[in-house]
Amino acid sequence: MFPQVSINRAKLSENIRVIKGALDLVGVEVAAVTKAFGAHPDIANVFVEGGVEVLADSRLENLAKLVSFRTKKMLLRLPALSEVDSVVRFADISLVSHLETAQHLSESAGEQGQYHGLILMMDLGDLREGIFCSSTFIETALAIQKLPNLSLEGVGANFCCVGGLIPSHNEVQRLNQLVLNIEERSHISVRTISAGNSSSLHLICGATSATPITQLRIGEAFLLGRETAYGKRIPGTYSDCFTLHAEIIEKQRKPSVPVGEIGTDGFGNKPSFVDNGEHWRAICAVGRQDVDLSQLTPVDNRISVVGGSSDHLILNIEACSDDYGLGDIVDFSLSYSGILGVMASPYVNKKIIQ
Ligand SMILES: *Cc1c(COP(=O)(O)O)cnc(C)c1O
Repeated sequence: MFPQVSINRAKLSENIRVIKGALDLVGVEVAAVTKAFGAHPDIANVFVEGGVEVLADSRLENLAKLVSFRTKKMLLRLPALSEVDSVVRFADISLVSHLETAQHLSESAGEQGQYHGLILMMDLGDLREGIFCSSTFIETALAIQKLPNLSLEGVGANFCCVGGLIPSHNEVQRLNQLVLNIEERSHISVRTISAGNSSSLHLICGATSATPITQLRIGEAFLLGRETAYGKRIPGTYSDCFTLHAEIIEKQRKPSVPVGEIGTDGFGNKPSFVDNGEHWRAICAVGRQDVDLSQLTPVDNRISVVGGSSDHLILNIEACSDDYGLGDIVDFSLSYSGILGVMASPYVNKKIIQ
């Protein structure tokens, strides 16, 4: 069944071993982020077998798929007030930035006879979630420590998401200072400094001195084998754990510029084309309903993507037209958001290999 995304278990498992190994060396625990693959339980299981301490996702529907897993679960997106009961039910820990949210979680945890852990998020300048002001942050942390059925597990921050802020030791020191201030005033220890995502790996790998960081929440680096602050590849890892396969449903020789009067395309845009003359084209049965087509790269570098629509992807195969025919399968590598797209599309068949 095509389109199909294949997930190479052995390669993913090796990525987990290498990255988890580097974090173990400096005593940093990892929350493996499952959102890009929709928390597919068979893939999440590869992480559990690799020894990750926590499974983390931004959506409750995804965490609900992992109910049978005994690994600790973390909700990454700030809980909505309307969903606190499910947060307590499906997650052991959540990230918060409001005392009011914590109060609701505390109440719900009490009603359900559960205990819930919180990481209070500080905004260090990336300007997505988190409390921006240090004194408000400390007051909120102290108030959370007084709530029943909850524990303030730690403090956290996010980077390279909306503002593109690259985390440095300076940001880590700020988190550490907040922890020291909270501990000094409440005499309750704060266990976790959750210092970001795949863009924080450069702070750890090759670190020469002890780091105050105790946890990172890692998604992209595991799946694509690179850190995301500078986009550097992580030695010994694979970038092709996920591959999309699509079938050719037409192969024809056509001009590169549309013929006749040109209006708008199927999406209301006026298309423009460069005239490369006539060439061999293939149409694959995959489209924007499956993935943002700009997130695909043909594995065969003689192929280029011309364009596409909801259900069609058009390729220029002039340089390799003898090698591809009707019914053949074309392979594509995927970016992180490409992986997210195909894993979320109900039209894409998911196949775990090896
Ligand atoms: C998505 C997300 C992560 C993981 O980010 P990667 O760049 O995939 O490592 C970590 N923390 C939060 C809060 C997130 O939303």
